[in-house]
Amino acid sequence: MKIVCYRTEDGSLRHGVVDDGGKVRDAGADLFALDAGSRLGALEELELVAPVPRPGKVVCVGRNYAEHARETGSVVPDRPQLFAKWANAVVGPRDDVVLPSITSALDYEAELVVVIGRTAKGVAEERALDHVLGYACGDDVSARDLQFGDTQWVRGKSLDTFAPTGPWIVTADEIPDPQDLRIRGLVNGEVRQDDTTANMLFSVARLIAFTTEAITLEPGDLLFTGTPPGVGHAMDPPRYLAPGDLVRVEIDGIGAIEHRVVAP
Ligand code: MG
Repeated sequence: MKIVCYRTEDGSLRHGVVDDGGKVRDAGADLFALDAGSRLGALEELELVAPVPRPGKVVCVGRNYAEHARETGSVVPDRPQLFAKWANAVVGPRDDVVLPSITSALDYEAELVVVIGRTAKGVAEERALDHVLGYACGDDVSARDLQFGDTQWVRGKSLDTFAPTGPWIVTADEIPDPQDLRIRGLVNGEVRQDDTTANMLFSVARLIAFTTEAITLEPGDLLFTGTPPGVGHAMDPPRYLAPGDLVRVEIDGIGAIEHRVVAP
């Protein structure tokens, strides 16, 4: 099942379920208590927002693909490297990413995003996927100069609009193995990242188990699972994003999001 979130004409947010023909039926306001709803119309006609517009937490993992760690000159970590984005960063699958004036090193990171469905605390790796509602595409947009100029990553990762997600949540029953998904990141149609989630250092299940040893994950929390190699920062010379650039993140079995970079 594909679950979108959209804004109605009166400004309220509702969820919808998308059928194979791209038609949507309204399923109510509560992601965790979807109702049978009524026919809405075509997906293209809806104002989509992020499938979880204001998550309680956005947990992220750095350097979760060995080749990405190497391309950035970092050691390959021996345990998940967690950091956070704040909810203000989350935007929808067609929204713009605003290039802030305080950075000149804007970069993309195509990522598989996990949406938590059931409260998870101290979860064993073997049971971790039972706590997943589903999966989405995401871009862990990063201001590299802020990320590496500060001693913490949070400012460079959490600027407004720095976490496009969507286009929907594909429920976990349709993704039997989250470690077998092709993931691609494109800029202006040029493929920059093309890898498989099989190359994650730490699987989705391991990430949930590791995270919940320390932090309770709650329904609607997001987990960004790290990016494969091919980011602009690692190129020689670096190729950062500029206003007008179009970034696309595609994951087989899930779909794609696209967002344009705009000046503030
Ligand atoms: Mg990342």
